[in-house]
Amino acid sequence: MSQFTMATDADGVATITWDTPGKSMNVMNMEGFQELDALIDEALADDAVKGVILTSGKEGSFAGGMDLNIIAKMKASAGDNPAKGLFDGVMATHGILRKIERAGMDDKNKGGKPICAALPGTALGIGLEIPLACHHIIAADNPKAKIGLPEIMVGIFPGMGGTTRLSWKLGAMGASPLLLEGKLNDPKKAKAAGVIDEVVAPEELLAKAKEWVLSEPKIVKPWDEKGYKIPGGTPYHPAGFMTFVGASAMVNGNTKGVYPAAKALLSSVYEGMQVPFDTALKIEARWFTNVLMNPSSAAMIRSLFINKEALEKGANRPDVPDQKVKKVGVIGAGMMGAGIALVSAQAGIEVVLIDQKQEAADKGKAYSERYLDKGIARKKTTPEKKEEVLARITATTDYAALAGCDLIVEAVFEDVGVKAAVTKEVLAAVGPECIFATNTSTLPITELAKASDTPEQFIGIHFFSPVEKMMLVEIIKGEKTGDVAVAKALDYVRQIRKTPIVVNDARFFYANRCIIPYINEGIRMVKEGVEPALIENAAKLVGMPLGPLQLTDETSIDLGVKIAKATKAAMGEAYDDTADEVIFWMADEGRLGRKANAGFYSYDDKGKRGLLWDGLGDKFPVADEQPELSEVQHRLLFAQVLEAVRALEEGVLEDIREGDVGAILGWGFAPWSGGPFSWLDILGAERAVELTEALTAQHGERFSTPALLREIAASGGSFYDRFGTGADAKAA
Ligand code: NAD
Repeated sequence: MSQFTMATDADGVATITWDTPGKSMNVMNMEGFQELDALIDEALADDAVKGVILTSGKEGSFAGGMDLNIIAKMKASAGDNPAKGLFDGVMATHGILRKIERAGMDDKNKGGKPICAALPGTALGIGLEIPLACHHIIAADNPKAKIGLPEIMVGIFPGMGGTTRLSWKLGAMGASPLLLEGKLNDPKKAKAAGVIDEVVAPEELLAKAKEWVLSEPKIVKPWDEKGYKIPGGTPYHPAGFMTFVGASAMVNGNTKGVYPAAKALLSSVYEGMQVPFDTALKIEARWFTNVLMNPSSAAMIRSLFINKEALEKGANRPDVPDQKVKKVGVIGAGMMGAGIALVSAQAGIEVVLIDQKQEAADKGKAYSERYLDKGIARKKTTPEKKEEVLARITATTDYAALAGCDLIVEAVFEDVGVKAAVTKEVLAAVGPECIFATNTSTLPITELAKASDTPEQFIGIHFFSPVEKMMLVEIIKGEKTGDVAVAKALDYVRQIRKTPIVVNDARFFYANRCIIPYINEGIRMVKEGVEPALIENAAKLVGMPLGPLQLTDETSIDLGVKIAKATKAAMGEAYDDTADEVIFWMADEGRLGRKANAGFYSYDDKGKRGLLWDGLGDKFPVADEQPELSEVQHRLLFAQVLEAVRALEEGVLEDIREGDVGAILGWGFAPWSGGPFSWLDILGAERAVELTEALTAQHGERFSTPALLREIAASGGSFYDRFGTGADAKAA
């Protein structure tokens, strides 16, 4: 079935319409490129055609980007020399886009036909790279549309000419937020940034495009004319030179040198600006190939694009009918309940928000109001939308209001007794079909389910804080949880547009199970006399967003104390209390973290974080001899990764894709690695065994090598060979 079609009108304007069958948004694939290429050839060769409009048949969008599975396929199909396969594939695409750009002009820039991109809305990735090769870009005035090049977010960079065209058009400085941060704009802002040329009323889009095509416009791109000067100057120019000095520092500061794509992008821009345009495209293709061949990029694409999407589409959803939520009851209008009510109402779900006192319930609803007001100030929403969302939330103390709810999310105090009482009260008020979910962060679901007569309808839906920001939701199956409850939870998470993982019930489930040892390892090092700055920087230099001490400050030291006490009570003899002395002492000192304006870090009166607190050294003196950076990093990473492997071994995790995606979205595990299992695969299981053996000898049994890791090392394989889907194994 064709994705591109062409029709020529009586005035000689050929309209090429992109409309991928069966998709809500156009996505480019191999066949699509071939079809576009053929139609461009046909239009350029046909004397009856004066010019071309390239548009989309989808309402509100031009294209969402490239099907990144192509990259995996190109690599896999290129035999012994995947780099050559990739480079040739990318150069072939450059050929098509360059043909659009030259549009039949001769080498004196004579002749040629105008080609205008007419965007009904969203244009991302290749969906903007193609328009950038056209001579004029008009977009419909659609404030919801997003225009930009977000590739950097999944570990690659715009490698189909977007990097070169945008940096030559806007200069390195102007293009930098768009390329290096993947910043997306609505059409008006995209025009203000110089990315597109015109914004028109949606109903006038094609008429305006036609008008432009027939206006005998100048179509030579500035870089194809003699003497073109890139705005801001090339690296030869003193101002241009300074831009690159600053940009290098910025990229290294932001990426800590662990993300290959940002550095490659900058190199591509820097080198490309010193040579003619066609050579610059070739340089871009080389760096792009380099990045695609890097195991980090492949792992990031696999986790952050392919597998994240697969989980969002319900890769592990039981086969039961649609369980879309219509009315949700949120019990407990505290920090979590307020956020859960907000995201549910935003998704169009009717919400009953219950607390013990009306003031508390109202306060929970007021959270949504404040959030939406901020959104109005930032032009992210409108006063009408705000009213619509707020009208969906009923704040009350009356359990009778729960009648008709098909899902309950309980977010009251973390206490088995309180939760059991609430469960019983709720179940007396709702119908027999209603699924009951608890947002507990630590209590076993199987235990909490005992308060219900229908444990098959009881499940854990664990949100992360702040709810409206954090993209992961951990769904936890108790021993008796049934398929309908799992499907309900998954369909709900899909409605609120977050990414789900489904795990089995065990202490701390998956995310907290891995993150707590990371925090403890950092605190343990403080006690050993490791320089706190070394601990924090080691974590950041290996790609963790926050060092373990800063993370403790953010989540609060008293929470750490609470978890330590509860864990000790549950584990008894087996509990290792080495880190406790430090946090118990910090709690006694009143240094409870950010909320107290005092923790492992110092804070000013306004709550701005300053340096590490120097008083820590008085109690826990820094040792004369400090460990190597790599040793600190291995301790911090293996503390998390070994828990992930154990969670898989024990069946808490059933799918390593969930282990990897959940780790990145849930607690920011070094995204460059693609997640804990991808990291082990990049490192190699054999090397991981060596390192864990050395760490065990030096630091104790918590680093002991899991049998599964040993087994994989002995087989010479990898985690994705053994547990991935076929597509996964090929992707990396
Ligand atoms: P919170 O103290 O801010 O809110 C709890 C709310 O529940 C309060 O408003 C309280 O009045 C209300 N409540 C208590 N008993 C009630 C009852 N019988 N009926 C109705 N309302 C009642 O706590 P929180 O941080 O929102 O946490 C709530 C739950 O979410 C806990 O189980 C917690 O472990 C879990 N959780 C918290 C986080 C986090 O970062 N805070 C993250 C994930 C999960």
